[in-house]
Amino acid sequence: MLNIPFQDIAKALQGKIYAEKERISINISGAITDSRAYHIEENPLFFALKGPVHNGHHFIDDLISKGVRYFVISDKKFIRDDAAFILVDDTTKALQHLASYVRQQFAYPVIGITGSNGKTIVKEWLYDLLSKENRIIRSPKSYNSQVGVPLSVLLMDESYDLGIFEAGISQPGEMQHLASIIQPDIGILTNIGDAHQEFFASLEQKLDEKLLLFRDAKKLVCRIDNPLVARKAKEFCLQNKIEPVFWSTESEESTISFSVEKNAAYCQITAHYSAKYYAFQIPFTDDSAIENSCRCFAAIVALGKDPKSLLSHFANLQHVAMRLEIKQGTNQNILINDYYNSDLNSLTIALSVLKQQASESHKKVLILSDIQQTGWSLPQLYSKVNQLLQESGIDRLIGIGPDIGTNREQFLVHAEFFTDVQDFENRFDPHSIRESAILIKGARKFRFERISGMLQQKAHQTVLEINLNALVNNLNVFRGLLKAETKIMVMVKAFSYGSGDVEIARLLQFQKVDYLAVAVADEGVQLRNAGINLPIIVMNPERDSFQNMLNYRLEPNLYSIELVSEFAAGISDAGIRDFPVHLKIDTGMNRLGLKSEEEIKTCIELLQNTDKLKLQSVFSHLAGSDEEALDEFTREQFIKFEQTAQFIAKMLPYSFDRHILNSGGIERFPEKQFEMVRLGIGLYGVSQTGLQLENIGTLKSTVSQVKEISSTETVGYNRKGKVDKKSKIAIVPIGYADGIDRKLGNRNGYAFINGNTVPIIGNICMDMLMLDVSGLDVGPGDRVEFFGAHISVNDVAQKAGTIPYEILTGISQRVKRIYLQE
Ligand SMILES: *Cc1c(COP(=O)(O)O)cnc(C)c1O
Repeated sequence: MLNIPFQDIAKALQGKIYAEKERISINISGAITDSRAYHIEENPLFFALKGPVHNGHHFIDDLISKGVRYFVISDKKFIRDDAAFILVDDTTKALQHLASYVRQQFAYPVIGITGSNGKTIVKEWLYDLLSKENRIIRSPKSYNSQVGVPLSVLLMDESYDLGIFEAGISQPGEMQHLASIIQPDIGILTNIGDAHQEFFASLEQKLDEKLLLFRDAKKLVCRIDNPLVARKAKEFCLQNKIEPVFWSTESEESTISFSVEKNAAYCQITAHYSAKYYAFQIPFTDDSAIENSCRCFAAIVALGKDPKSLLSHFANLQHVAMRLEIKQGTNQNILINDYYNSDLNSLTIALSVLKQQASESHKKVLILSDIQQTGWSLPQLYSKVNQLLQESGIDRLIGIGPDIGTNREQFLVHAEFFTDVQDFENRFDPHSIRESAILIKGARKFRFERISGMLQQKAHQTVLEINLNALVNNLNVFRGLLKAETKIMVMVKAFSYGSGDVEIARLLQFQKVDYLAVAVADEGVQLRNAGINLPIIVMNPERDSFQNMLNYRLEPNLYSIELVSEFAAGISDAGIRDFPVHLKIDTGMNRLGLKSEEEIKTCIELLQNTDKLKLQSVFSHLAGSDEEALDEFTREQFIKFEQTAQFIAKMLPYSFDRHILNSGGIERFPEKQFEMVRLGIGLYGVSQTGLQLENIGTLKSTVSQVKEISSTETVGYNRKGKVDKKSKIAIVPIGYADGIDRKLGNRNGYAFINGNTVPIIGNICMDMLMLDVSGLDVGPGDRVEFFGAHISVNDVAQKAGTIPYEILTGISQRVKRIYLQE
């Protein structure tokens, strides 16, 4: 816990205090930046950060009403009499300053980790390996950003004796801030890949920037099997007088050298260090797990510990599920799996995801392990947890673990308790939970994945994984191209371009987009039933659905005179006034829309003559916003649109929004954003102009069977799969009925498996296809990616002779969607 007087913090931040006298000497117990996490501390200090979406200052009133009293702000007008404020120029910088101030108070060793991949895994594995001997404070989840790092370091206190923090950067110039916050004694450089390459001129520049984290470190742990990394790391250590702890799997010229022997289900690793040999096993066989466990061994050496006593722990290392998963459960349940750790901070965040994903009709159930938290007595801790559960509207608690059970009297919510997962499996009736949103939250050692396995719908091995963080990132990239006041309508038609409907809509609602657009009314009804209350526009309103549209407040796109008059007539008995409607103008696409001035005039006159309808917006659609050759045509569309909107404005006594840009339009003609834009494919990760968007979907499956064939044999229907030598074939349970275009067969399309790109061989079947995996180590159960991090949707579209839109929306409904969120 922090435990610093308010006035000392103000002094350290060189900020100005606005507070009553009795408040300034109060001890602050922790820093928060997320208004949802306020109950964790006794006297929390809220930093009002300004981000692309949320301005923390806007949460101050709400937090005060919930009892928070201490704030760091940069905007004077939010100061109130009933709370205490520190005014600074920049609240993010202030948070960072406070963290480096706190860091300096502690002399125990701190490990700083950076690199492109594996930071969180190395941090977690070191924690697992060392936590029997050390009391360790580490970054929660992958809190490694400009805000996450200071929040992590601010958790340091005298109850710990080792700190492990990770640092991530996306742009040059960021690392020096993180270096002065973490001030690592021991540095660990993990794998340098090309993630986040976009802002760096070269790999070398990226490496230089990452190494900055270690400029004041005493030792540096680094693999030297890549010549560039080896040269840079050596120079860096020499220049800054850092002791190198270099390691290699290829040469003996390093502090530690490893030899690796792969077996079917585990690896045997031998480390050669300081004239001794140390042998250990890890329960993994993939290269990145091998690399990360060698790295952990080297870190243990760097800490000055004798590795011998820790060797046996390597065999117990587990996969690190870093992200929260949202899945369909049995009995119409939704499962939210988060078995990474269990402290109040991460529980609070997971509860807010539960709230976001549960609809009104869902019961809210929490399956919770013992909480790991220092600083409070157990009764205090669990009464806090109870308070949190009550505030989150939890209907039923299932507590698992010795501590939570012995403190059961702290819980006022409906609760039952089990001593461990085994006890739960023996005594719990899975049919007693239905139509519920279930959060499964526990520290890793509780092995809650077993609970999830019990409650989960048995998924077909083929899934489409949707990364919700990437979606938010993409939304923010587009927000960055727009003025702050421009509204965003997100197109969630066609199952959100194949990525799922209610889950995506809930996230977008949380991210405060302004409008959602669906193709037909039924899609809108489904969203309303799931608790979405954002305005929703229906692009193709059908006459049969008018009543539903009124009942569910779905706003029609009126694209013809007939529709305007029929919708007005349909509404006449309902006693409704000012129902919001939209007019679509055809400026050259020659799809739906009003074209002639006469038509437009008649429609507006109809609107003038009724108080039942109110024109909410006027819009048009571009035919070729992504194609430079059509720019002249696009400009003509802009001119027609602007003129028409002006014409309509003259006829109506009130104002309305105008919008014409789709994703390609926003990227290429941001000056035409008017009052609103309509974001579609860009949100789902496809850019027409090379914008740095993150991939949101990964289509994957697993190998069912592997077989060898001779050069005279063939593969699949019509004997189309031919080979010219002895070959190895992997059969994968995904076919054209799942949305894999049949044109991708016969070595046209590819899949990614165990680090290799392999061709699809033969004709694609309805439910299966075959891959040529000759020469590769591939077996049943291995994962196969069809698009995702290694194969882009654009690429697949090109090979199939179509556009990414068709690939994304073509993934069939029988492919289960799984949602991941950090
Ligand atoms: C689908 C659609 C969009 C979104 O287009 P993207 O190219 O996916 O951004 C915008 N406006 C209308 C009318 C649409 O039908």
